Amino acid sequence: MKSKFIIVTGGVLSSLGKGLAAASIGALLESRGLSVTLQKLDPYINVDPGTMNPFQHGEVFVTDDGAETDLDLGHYERYTHAKLGQKNNFTSGSIYYSVITKERRGDYLGGTVQVIPHITDEIKQNILAVADDVDVAIIEIGGTVGDIESLPFLEAIRQLRLDVGRQSVIYIHVTLVPFVRASGEIKTKPTQHSVATLRGIGIQPDVLLCRTEKPLDDDLKRKISLFCNVEPADVITAIDVDTIYEVPLNFHGEGLDERIVEKLNIWTRAPRLDAWRELIQRIKNPKDEVSIGIIGKYVDLQESYKSLNEALSHGGIPIESKVNLVFVDAEAVERDGPEKYLAELDGTLVPGGFGSRGVEGKILAVRYAREKKVPYFGICLGMQMAVIEYARNVLGLEGAHSTEHDLDTPHPVIYLMKEWFDYRTKRVEVRDEGSDLGGTMRLGAYPCRILNGTRAFEAYQQEEIFERHRHRYEFNNQYRESMAGQGMIFSGVSPDGQLVEIVELEDHPWFLGCQFHPEFKSRPMEPHPLFKAFIRAAWEYKKGKDRGAASS
Ligand code: GLN
Repeated sequence: MKSKFIIVTGGVLSSLGKGLAAASIGALLESRGLSVTLQKLDPYINVDPGTMNPFQHGEVFVTDDGAETDLDLGHYERYTHAKLGQKNNFTSGSIYYSVITKERRGDYLGGTVQVIPHITDEIKQNILAVADDVDVAIIEIGGTVGDIESLPFLEAIRQLRLDVGRQSVIYIHVTLVPFVRASGEIKTKPTQHSVATLRGIGIQPDVLLCRTEKPLDDDLKRKISLFCNVEPADVITAIDVDTIYEVPLNFHGEGLDERIVEKLNIWTRAPRLDAWRELIQRIKNPKDEVSIGIIGKYVDLQESYKSLNEALSHGGIPIESKVNLVFVDAEAVERDGPEKYLAELDGTLVPGGFGSRGVEGKILAVRYAREKKVPYFGICLGMQMAVIEYARNVLGLEGAHSTEHDLDTPHPVIYLMKEWFDYRTKRVEVRDEGSDLGGTMRLGAYPCRILNGTRAFEAYQQEEIFERHRHRYEFNNQYRESMAGQGMIFSGVSPDGQLVEIVELEDHPWFLGCQFHPEFKSRPMEPHPLFKAFIRAAWEYKKGKDRGAASS
């Protein structure tokens, strides 16, 4: 079957939840038995978001094939079963880069290279390239209609309908319908303007997703319909929700999936949404709660830990518990000590990170969790912190560190491995301190062997797993024997035994660090094994504390 396309654009302002809307549409189409893929087009000049500051742009999401992508791909993977990779996210920068490379190679045979048709053709080729073997490709355009940057993308998607046919492309516009408290009115003018801008560049939206805090009544829908030239039934109320996983059900309640398949002229089975309903039921009616301290640097911007936050709350679903995330600034821990911030919490997590700010605070937090026997989960940098803490305070290796933070450390327990076999490229990689920052990262899914009889095995119930990486530094094998002699268990290693992927401790209720980022693979309906195990351990720790308090 020839693929159909749904193009999602946004208007009025950013952060309207376009990514969640696209992901939710994907979920609804899958519930009707259709296969989908999703793609994000970002209008900035960076070639990929890998080098962007997470303060500005939020998390960098990593796919199996090692693409560093926009965080919306995380939503897409959590809501659907689409297999995403390099091809599913591209930027203006990457488009221009490849057009300019072709121009230098002489591919354009002396012609003048222009935005139309060269840039727009390149965009269309990239869109068509993901749609090969699926029923529907959902294409989200980043930014807001009216931005200078997104014009070539909008022009390309306008042309796409001409190229592939009217019934094969629909345009869905996500817009804001604000409630103005002073006058007690819901205002449609911003939506009218945004749609007018879109029509000005030749795109008539087929469906409007109206983000609003109050339900839109029929009169309002008729008004929007009239001014925006969209049928009233295609004006969808996209109301604020308590949990983001409610969005697919709300859209379905508004008839969105029905309208989409009708417009695209696709026959499908009736949607099966029971699993979503059960999920929402569980999330909205927790029987208990646990509180997890996240010791980080970007405590002010939770967007930079998007997948982590989601994975933690997924971990609570099987035990019907709400997971409270308590963001603790590592530098404050460094200043005031861990007790003040962590004493009341049920688990400690040190997430991934780059740079040296706050590392001593993170190491203090690890020590506190280890000694007080509070469940600890270290992810990537968090595993490295656990190794450093153990080297310093258990093995007595004073000044032990990672060479990322201290090049002259006498005990480089974490370092840049000069040579290692790369399972992805299937060759021996060589690097040193002078290597180029972008090129030296271990990125994407790598195999890991799990040692039987460990916490890791208990969680995964599997001997071989694949997890996604994004880091440069590794455990230094020179210290493996001495650390193992003091009770550190290397429960996950690469198949050749060279790369340490998981460490854990004996004599502790749950203390585990992994060099990879498990949060990227967690889904609400299939919580990640390590997050499930960690949250359960935190819950049991909390019950133990409560029992202790009751009996004293
Ligand atoms: N900065 C560390 C490294 O590069 C950890 C990276 C991470 O946590 N993603 O190895």
